Amino acid sequence: MIYDIVVVGGGPAGMMAAGRAGELGARVLLVEKNQQLGAKLLATGHGRCNFTNLQADKKETIGVYGKNFKFLFSAFSKFGVASSINFFSKFGVESKEEDRGRVFPLSDKAGDIREALVKYLKKNSVEVRLGAEVKEIVAKDKKIEKIILTNGEEILGRNFIISTGGKSYPETGSTGSAYGWLESLGHKIIAPRPALTPIVVKPPHQVWCGGKEKIVKKLEGLSLENIGISVYQNDKKIMSRTGEIIFTADGLSGPAIIDLSGHVGEFLLEPTFLKIDFKPEIEISKFEEKLQKDFHQSHNKMLKNYLAGLVQPKLLPAIIELSGVNEQKQVSDITKVERQALARALKEFTLEAKELKGFNKAMVTAGGVDIKEVDSRTMRSKIYENLFLAGEILDLDGPTGGYNLQICWSTGFVAGESVTF
Ligand SMILES: Cc1cc2nc3c(=O)[nH]c(=O)nc-3n(C[C@H](O)[C@H](O)[C@H](O)COP(=O)(O)OP(=O)(O)OC[C@H]3O[C@@H](n4cnc5c(N)ncnc54)[C@H](O)[C@@H]3O)c2cc1C
Repeated sequence: MIYDIVVVGGGPAGMMAAGRAGELGARVLLVEKNQQLGAKLLATGHGRCNFTNLQADKKETIGVYGKNFKFLFSAFSKFGVASSINFFSKFGVESKEEDRGRVFPLSDKAGDIREALVKYLKKNSVEVRLGAEVKEIVAKDKKIEKIILTNGEEILGRNFIISTGGKSYPETGSTGSAYGWLESLGHKIIAPRPALTPIVVKPPHQVWCGGKEKIVKKLEGLSLENIGISVYQNDKKIMSRTGEIIFTADGLSGPAIIDLSGHVGEFLLEPTFLKIDFKPEIEISKFEEKLQKDFHQSHNKMLKNYLAGLVQPKLLPAIIELSGVNEQKQVSDITKVERQALARALKEFTLEAKELKGFNKAMVTAGGVDIKEVDSRTMRSKIYENLFLAGEILDLDGPTGGYNLQICWSTGFVAGESVTF
């Protein structure tokens, strides 16, 4: 028996690709090594699945996908954000928009997104093999001929779609096994690296501020919203974000940090600093003026009581320690130098980045199959005419917010419909 299309990897990209190919009448086999489809999909958005973003396919914002964003133009024009939302709605999943354009199922259940895809597979008679791990892909005469499973079974196909994902969260099945097969078939693999991951700092939490250095303890678990983070190298600002951060046992996490992590990873060969601004809405000289005015108005207050109205209780001791000002001092007695030290502690709280947390904690994998060797209109390999690639296996990744799953829906759909059989 020879299948028209064999899809390897039953994550979001593979399920979409297999369903679309089945819808067009192909005899499709979807091979997944886990005992269930979409294990990682279930973990997305803390189980709520932020399945797309209203900004993901907009010309003005598509640059968030980094240097390879142009590759996505064609796939997004065929199956973009609106198509994804309509698709899930057709399969009974209504959606809702949250802040920053993030779209979730109305039910807040990632399981509903997976269920919709399973219905799509069933409706289009896609055959699914669970617990089937591919160990090798075999090519003959410039065409892919078959896959070989770890139990030795060989499966023949006229076409193959590889959608085995990246290397992050390997416990969900994404172990990067296809990189090796594809490399030995002649495809170039851009070195996979963790992206969208917490950042480890050196050592936790050694803070630099105004030329001084202090170990600030007990910040673990502190979660703060609307915080400015800037990345510095050689005193030069490289990039910045504003958003939520969380202090972890060995560094920093939270959406703003996770979004910056991929870029930080690229710079780590040289000393790289993360400057935290707890009051990003106001520039430092204006902030100092505000302190001066406030100190004048509430002159009887002790510094620690004044700061209690300005920062979270867990952060307060760190700010006092870093500024070097006596917390018992009455604010009216605070000198200009002390005021400047307080302003710096709150706006230039600087940590040195050590490393990224690694694939175990990375939400996506940057790098993967070099997109120069893939036709962006069809997802067809430029080396093997019957080989297609979809999803995170490609050298494509975006920030948090539903951007990465949109890559999967778009490239999966296009791969599924571009196969000729
Ligand atoms: C904790 C977490 C939360 C996330 N939240 C979001 C979010 O809210 N929004 C968003 O847009 N993105 C999110 N992401 C990213 C998103 O989940 C991925 O980008 C997406 O799952 C990639 O889909 P894929 O189909 O390309 O690969 P995967 O989902 O990795 O699926 C690949 C499949 O291939 C199978 N496979 C691998 N090797 C073999 C083999 N040799 N034989 C057979 N099968 C094989 C795997 O078992 C797996 O099921 C999150 C990721 C994580 C880890």
